[in-house]
Amino acid sequence: MEIFDLREFDAHELVAFSHDPATGLRAIIAVHSTALGPAAGGCRMWPYATTAEALADVLRLSRGMSYKNAMAGVPFGGGKAVIIGEPRKVKTPELFEAFGRFIDSLAGRYITAEDVGTATADMACVARTTRHVAGLGAAPGAAGGDPGPKTALGVLLGIKAAVRFRLGRSDLSGVTVAVQGAGGVGYHLCGLLAAEGAVLAVADVRPAAVQRVCEEFKARAVAVDDVLALDVDVLAPCALGAVLNSHSIPRLRARIVAGAANNQLAQGQDGVALQTAGVLYAPDYVINAGGIISVAREYQRGTEAQVIADIHAIPARLAEIFERARRENRTTNAIADQMARERLGREPPHQLVA
Ligand code: NAD
Repeated sequence: MEIFDLREFDAHELVAFSHDPATGLRAIIAVHSTALGPAAGGCRMWPYATTAEALADVLRLSRGMSYKNAMAGVPFGGGKAVIIGEPRKVKTPELFEAFGRFIDSLAGRYITAEDVGTATADMACVARTTRHVAGLGAAPGAAGGDPGPKTALGVLLGIKAAVRFRLGRSDLSGVTVAVQGAGGVGYHLCGLLAAEGAVLAVADVRPAAVQRVCEEFKARAVAVDDVLALDVDVLAPCALGAVLNSHSIPRLRARIVAGAANNQLAQGQDGVALQTAGVLYAPDYVINAGGIISVAREYQRGTEAQVIADIHAIPARLAEIFERARRENRTTNAIADQMARERLGREPPHQLVA
């Protein structure tokens, strides 16, 4: 495989592989950029069918973290790790201790945290063998803990910025919002939206999650298949990636898409389809940065108050993106990618869309 030629490679600074036969650890750490600080990004554990698949994923995610951290304004670069394996079958404390030794061998160039397939308890094992780990929980007043509510706060502020820009309204009273996914982020987002007077419609594949937000926040339950096409002011995807695609975009009736889910656009071109349809899209990695801000501040041993202050910078960043996209008649996702790359000192994206 010609790794340097992979589209995802994008001049990564470092890619390291580790196999620890004693524990069965097979892991890859990718460091895309340390231009703004040590590379920070979570560790994903997944039963990849091939090493090539794991490599492509870690490279793609690592570059994504460079963009996210650069736009979040935190002094960290972008990196990511993957552990190859089925989390429910092969997790052991020893495996995560071995993973910690692997991280430690990079002498602080990469900092890990939990991601899909890993949890706080796993990070506690990692912390036995390296100090380059976050996402461990927090004392009262200190930064850290569950990033879901922090992400939700950033999304709320981002929705308000989008509503101001697109609908010319300074509050959310009576604004209709469809939330897809009432999990760790979506639940808290519903609470914050309801407190601001927004009118909620919610869908989740877990009926209990929907029932909870309906009871607590007077949300209306809608079918999973209908939520993307509701006639609302704002659609907030808070479940899966790739929900904005050639199938869903022609059905959208929302004027704004602003939610927490990662990788909402199936392809860069889908941003063009949204723009053409007159839908204002808040780039996912900009609006959902509350979680990484919390993790970054935790690593720096900062305070909860600093996290909240940093999250309040998200709407101004989005407003700048919206303005620039309108001025240059380009998509918001292309503008965000370009701004991130400018901050990283990288050349513009290879495939600028619109
Ligand atoms: P979660 O797993 O706690 O919640 C996701 C919810 O979506 C679950 O309740 C699940 O049942 C529901 N769901 C799954 N498929 C669905 C479907 N087809 N239709 C409707 N609902 C569906 O995850 P989370 O932590 O709330 O994160 C939500 C999204 O935000 C994810 O894409 C995640 O990557 C992203 N994100 C989360 C954070 C964070 O701090 N947790 C930070 C940045 C981005």
